[in-house]
Amino acid sequence: MSGLEQLEDGLRNLKLHRLADHLEIFLEDAGKQTWTHAEFLEKAIQEELASKRDKRTEMGTRMARFPFVKTLDAFDFTYQPSIDQRRLKDLAACRWIENGENVIFLGPPGVGKTHMAVALGVEAIRLGYRTMFITAQALIGNLTKAHSENRLEEKLKGYTQPRLLIIDEIGYIPIDRLGANLFFQLVSRRYEKGAMILTSNQAFSNWGEVFGDQIIATAILDRVLHHSVTVNIKGESYRLKEKLKAGILNRKQEASAA
Ligand code: ADP
Ligand code: MG
Repeated sequence: MSGLEQLEDGLRNLKLHRLADHLEIFLEDAGKQTWTHAEFLEKAIQEELASKRDKRTEMGTRMARFPFVKTLDAFDFTYQPSIDQRRLKDLAACRWIENGENVIFLGPPGVGKTHMAVALGVEAIRLGYRTMFITAQALIGNLTKAHSENRLEEKLKGYTQPRLLIIDEIGYIPIDRLGANLFFQLVSRRYEKGAMILTSNQAFSNWGEVFGDQIIATAILDRVLHHSVTVNIKGESYRLKEKLKAGILNRKQEASAA
């Protein structure tokens, strides 16, 4: 075994894979610099840490099960002036997650609610917060199924563990009594402990109808809104804009589709 191979072997034993994989180039590079020993070690450590962070982010993003992966940088704030860019950048720092608070995006279809929720989720993962994305429909379906199979406790725990739970599309599909009750149980468990992002096309005043019960809706909102930020998105659908641009729809059709 050559000296280089021996070093690589040792690095792999220590699970310093990035350094092991690029050792030759790294040493060559170092030879051209005037680094002190301490500086050299510092560079090596930074390189390995950055690579580990990237891997963790990639893995966390896969585990979160986003419907698509998009970032804040990809959001066109000029198209959606009702969203304060600085406020979103501030939310991207994720201090609210540390405090177990909630962020709620409200607005009509296509204005970027899911995009925002995913973008904040990606930032959370970058900062090391375990994140899970699910639609309200899937969440309630899974809780209802677990309830009927006597596994509710286990399922509730599964949804309580992630530091950030993103529940998308509250309000599109009506929720039955049991579903509303199970949703309330989950919200109660996460209250003041685990942060959530909720998105909905329905104003809070309509949540009584969404959950089919004004009392449960009020109890849910009471907990969700206690420590929370609500971002109201007004404006037009971005999906429609893209179709208009592509000439798939004309203005008349847009009016009837809206
Ligand atoms: P919603 O969840 O509010 O129905 P989405 O977040 O799914 O809408 O947005 C629909 C599509 O349009 C997505 O592909 C999203 O990335 C894109 N989109 C929406 N608003 C913007 C925007 N302001 N800038 C860039 N892309 C946007
Ligand atoms: Mg959406």
